Amino acid sequence: MALLQTQNLTAHYGDFQALFGVDIELGKAETVAIIGANGAGKTTLMRSIAGVLQNDPRAVSFDNKNIGALAADEIMAQGVAMVPEGRKLFPSLTVEENLLIGTYGRKTDGHWNLKTVYDLFPILAERRHNPGTALSGGQQQMVAIGRALMSNPRVLLCDEISLGLAPVVIKDIYKAIPQIKAAGASMIVVEQDIAQAMAVADRVYCMMEGRVTLSGTPDSLSRDDIHNAYFGAN
Ligand code: ATP
Repeated sequence: MALLQTQNLTAHYGDFQALFGVDIELGKAETVAIIGANGAGKTTLMRSIAGVLQNDPRAVSFDNKNIGALAADEIMAQGVAMVPEGRKLFPSLTVEENLLIGTYGRKTDGHWNLKTVYDLFPILAERRHNPGTALSGGQQQMVAIGRALMSNPRVLLCDEISLGLAPVVIKDIYKAIPQIKAAGASMIVVEQDIAQAMAVADRVYCMMEGRVTLSGTPDSLSRDDIHNAYFGAN
């Protein structure tokens, strides 16, 4: 039984339909990557699961309960946390204050606390009293991940965590994913870089124009399959 599931999920922005009947599953302790080109609907899928966008109340289930009708804060309280695209830190707050925001409204028993987040990203311990504005893009991304972890989520949704970062920084951030998994979280990772997604995921879904066009384990998918699912077969 899947821990989290979407069934026939649709999403609209006004008259524009961005998702058309998306079915995905995330198992316990599984890492799933969502790949696809710009505009494929990956962010919309994350926002729909996280309750930022309204959808059919029955379209999203978590732990055998429909959560599609819940508000974003209620979904977070159930244990689904999102690392949003663009990081969204509070720039005037320090690293530590930004991390502590992740604990508000949650009972935070579990592996993740300030110490374990600083162990995961040691540079953040050095910068703990610096404001968000004084951080590099990579450090800001680490804070955004750490802040989500501070709520000890059962599911972590990561939207394009490598966006706009240098390759060496991306490597540092992706090194954290297996450790987050080992600590017990299930993860959905949105990623435009196919190789990165393949390296980190147990299973991959490819989206194009609001639909899932391919899914499978990284080993089971050929380069051609992925190319066709990503760009369309011509
Ligand atoms: P990207 O990598 O660019 O973030 P994506 O796969 O995450 O792409 P979405 O951001 O989910 O794609 O966008 C899916 C579709 O919905 C696109 O056609 C986009 O233009 C449209 N869209 C996204 N956000 C809005 C919005 N706030 N209002 C109207 N249309 C939107």
